Amino acid sequence: MTGFVITPPAAPALAVAGSDQTFPLRRVFCVGRNYAAHAREMGADPDREPPFFFTKPADAVVSASGTVPYPSSTQDLHHEVELVVALKGGGANVAPEQALDLVWGYGVGVDLTRRDLQEVAKKTGRPWDMSKGFDASGPCSPLQPASATGHPQEGRVWLEVNGQLKQEGNLNEMIWPVADTIAYLSRFVTLQPGDVIFTGTPSGVGKLDPGDQVRGGVDGVTTFEFTMGQAPSGSNA
Ligand code: MN
Repeated sequence: MTGFVITPPAAPALAVAGSDQTFPLRRVFCVGRNYAAHAREMGADPDREPPFFFTKPADAVVSASGTVPYPSSTQDLHHEVELVVALKGGGANVAPEQALDLVWGYGVGVDLTRRDLQEVAKKTGRPWDMSKGFDASGPCSPLQPASATGHPQEGRVWLEVNGQLKQEGNLNEMIWPVADTIAYLSRFVTLQPGDVIFTGTPSGVGKLDPGDQVRGGVDGVTTFEFTMGQAPSGSNA
């Protein structure tokens, strides 16, 4: 057999800070409720739950710069600022002590969420895919290599909307730190180079409207700034 029956889609990739090279994206895993204060604001008990994971398509990760399109079919789009971990190595049943050896670098992203659809999904026991995995639902900064940032264990995680601070936390408040998250996730999937992990959000999640100016960052890693686009006409219900 030779060739493809359609033109192969472009391989999704993330920019790398200070480089012309890019980081190829394989899979996007996201951790739910990884900061106690956010777990509480979502009505969960932060002390008892092991980490849980959901996914976004690799091409949902887009550059957190310029204009990020406002999605269809929501009236309650929420921001969740998160440390993003990019893997250069993989494996199954990774020990926490070895987990950080798999990390290529770090970025800061926003786990955009159609909160209204997510609330319906929670109530009805339906999947989260359309509330979490829509087009452009994972805007992310350029990645910084761990050779530049080290493996950050603490640092302020923050997000501003139109110049007002909305989210603020610290990496040292993670219920499951990065090494533990990688180790736990690798019990369920064999991790591979190119996989990235959105590591959960601190408290203060809230609504984004079309035209909002969004800034965020993790101190010691990087920052980002983008504008929400206009809502697609006629599609928001
Ligand atoms: Mn999240």
